[in-house]
Amino acid sequence: MVDKRDATPAAEAATPDEGFMRLALDEARAAAAEDEVPIGAVVVCDGRVVARAHNRRELDEDPSAHAEFRAMVDASRALGRWRLTGCTVYVTLEPCLMCAGLMVNARVDRCVYGAPDPKGGALGTLYDVSHDARLNHEFQVTPGVLQGECASVLREFFRAKRAARKAAARRPDAGDAGHDASVGEQ
Ligand SMILES: [Zn+2]
Repeated sequence: MVDKRDATPAAEAATPDEGFMRLALDEARAAAAEDEVPIGAVVVCDGRVVARAHNRRELDEDPSAHAEFRAMVDASRALGRWRLTGCTVYVTLEPCLMCAGLMVNARVDRCVYGAPDPKGGALGTLYDVSHDARLNHEFQVTPGVLQGECASVLREFFRAKRAARKAAARRPDAGDAGHDASVGEQ
């Protein structure tokens, strides 16, 4: 179903994909507000959002707490089935091997992502897990939806982190800047 609304206050959701990606971006910003690397995801089934999540690796102390991984697990619980047939996963950054692997295992129909990830992207950049005939499931991929906005949320986060680290280092009582200074990129 195409959800064509006029004059959406959230503005310029030119396509349904962009509309759902905006929700994923909201999740990414929620992650930044929690001092987590800002990556967000939503899972859509039959035109309806069934789960939304953001990265929570630090807070949950969980290496699997990537946005789209959490969103898929939540979607399965919401739908009452482990198979996510009929579902599309929207995520602001290209999925890693783990998350792309879960997409295979969950039998998703499609993944739409924003920014490519040159350091870990497994849906076209470093690997392409979506179309590997050796695996038992293939799925569609749409890259680059709201790419600029998705990338800039990440860039701004790391820029602010670096600035905070520099400011902390300049202070004579440096050492306890409140938060872990070694934020790794996802
Ligand atoms: Zn991942």
